Amino acid sequence: MIKSVWVNQDECIICGICVANVPDAFRFKDAGKAEAFDHAR
Ligand code: SF4
Repeated sequence: MIKSVWVNQDECIICGICVANVPDAFRFKDAGKAEAFDHAR
């Protein structure tokens, strides 16, 4: 099953939990907030 994740940029408080726990799917953008990405690309 394919699952998709995303970050609501208006709600992200830059706590880092997503990046720390799922680094293959989340990273911080240059502006500071988190974003979801496809690590296979
Ligand atoms: S850093 Fe990740 S877990 Fe924390 S608020 Fe932003 S999207 Fe949510």
